Amino acid sequence: MAEGVQDLRTDVAHGARIYDYILGGKDNYAVDRAAAEASQQVWPALPVHMRANREFMHRAGRFLATERGVDQFLDIGTGIPTSPNLHEVVQEVEPEARVVYTDNDPIVLAHARALMSRTGQGRTAYVEADLRDPDTILSSREFRETLDPDRPIALMLIAVVHFIEDDDEALDVVRRIVEVLPSGSYVAATIATDDYAPELLAEVRRAYHEHGETLKFRDHDQALRFFDGLEVLEPGVVQVHKWRPDDPASLDVPEADIAMYAGIARKP
Ligand code: SAH
Repeated sequence: MAEGVQDLRTDVAHGARIYDYILGGKDNYAVDRAAAEASQQVWPALPVHMRANREFMHRAGRFLATERGVDQFLDIGTGIPTSPNLHEVVQEVEPEARVVYTDNDPIVLAHARALMSRTGQGRTAYVEADLRDPDTILSSREFRETLDPDRPIALMLIAVVHFIEDDDEALDVVRRIVEVLPSGSYVAATIATDDYAPELLAEVRRAYHEHGETLKFRDHDQALRFFDGLEVLEPGVVQVHKWRPDDPASLDVPEADIAMYAGIARKP
């Protein structure tokens, strides 16, 4: 743990901390707040967009646990544990559910203990690793000891693939993970897009880059490719707020305020 914390850079903005700040958390620094404020000046909808993404993660976890009986999750790009986190959502449905969390940001590692708070008989584990290095994740002791590779696992990629700019690389790493999951497994992903507000989002992207953070937008076809070879569930790959909303009122949000596609697919 100490090793990761030493790597913690507070002079460059981090996606996890910008997001934490916007969601109302306290685990962020001046540089993150500056990046968040700069982005919000350009795109005032940023908090609406980020909350909608977070709410999709909650719905996706609940849906997979409740409707599909999934009780094993691999969550890559976990973020700072702004409550409720995935394990809290799914262990409410299935107390024995197990979650392996992965992130490459030392700030997340520093908060990993909060991810380990268990309810019921479930288990959580944390792996500090990069999505671009699936072998490290899949061969980790935490992954092997926490999840049963013979039973369905839901791979959660929520607001993380936009940190990998290269399309081939992003698709390849996801494919390599899906490959090892058993039939009946699921992929739930949200994928950043500028389809609904291209000019504004070009500015946001510039603000992110100026603060040392990556942000890659993908169009609908590119987003769909993350689910190649899988059975995409209804209503397909749609903006996050349109994926099986709990409250129809959430559909009143202007399309231009949401820069994220969401989808859930089943591995045949
Ligand atoms: N999944 C959470 C948090 C999203 S914030 C949610 O949607 O609510 C994105 C997270 O992805 C950050 O914590 C960031 O550190 C992490 N991340 C970015 N690039 C990554 C990579 N290449 N590998 C692993 N994690 C990454």
